[in-house]
Amino acid sequence: MADPSKGSLNTATVREKWNLRQCIEGCARHGLGGIAPWRDKLAECGIDEASRMIRDNGLTVTGLCRAGLFPASDAAAFQANLDENRRAVDEAVAIDAECVVLVAGGLPVGSRDLPGARAQVRDGIAATLEYARGVGMKLAIEPLHPMYAADRACVNTLAHANDLCDELGEGLGVAVDVYHVWWDPNVATEIARAGKDRILAFHVCDWLVPTTDLLLDRGMMGDGVIDIPAIRAMVEATGFDGLYEVEIFSAENWWKRDPDEVLTTVVERLGSAV
Ligand code: ZN
Repeated sequence: MADPSKGSLNTATVREKWNLRQCIEGCARHGLGGIAPWRDKLAECGIDEASRMIRDNGLTVTGLCRAGLFPASDAAAFQANLDENRRAVDEAVAIDAECVVLVAGGLPVGSRDLPGARAQVRDGIAATLEYARGVGMKLAIEPLHPMYAADRACVNTLAHANDLCDELGEGLGVAVDVYHVWWDPNVATEIARAGKDRILAFHVCDWLVPTTDLLLDRGMMGDGVIDIPAIRAMVEATGFDGLYEVEIFSAENWWKRDPDEVLTTVVERLGSAV
């Protein structure tokens, strides 16, 4: 049995049944050491109340989900996206998060210009990073599996995320999510390249076979085909000693269960499958 305090609950895992207050209390009850709130749950709870509860329960905030989503059809919409990212950075500072998780965003509606979208992502991160540096918050680019390139994230490999870090510099890092990187033949090289300073978060769940929904059919650790301990070993070989953030989007299975059962299983699997 692993120490449950090595685990962090990404609130997406129980989002259908628990609000943020219940998530915080659930983490404390199950001995988890961290939490990663989504902004909608944070807004619903209220930032002051959330910070107080998180602090009182001694939880580490392994990340605020999520910002990014930069590409837009015109300059005004792009600027609105930048403004939204600044708000996310401010919220992350308020709850003392270790980083803001950035999901790049996909193609603007009607566009086929993937290089153009990627250029907007670069510019959007650069602008947000300048702001984040000023308030002492780190940004973690989370590359998503290429199946999301059109509608969610056009940064799809750790190599691309590392290139952006090389270009844009201090304060920018990566979130390594096993679900998004396990298939990549260069995963070991790129995790080593990222290194301890850049790996700001480590997310776990599993890839089910068959996967019946591109977004909402992620598995509990141990129920799929990802060699999670192997990827964890690569991440920890860099010197990363952060928490294992459990992030499971599962509309037909885990989201329907009693969240206390979900967290009991999470703690078991942190011991046996991570
Ligand atoms: Zn993730």
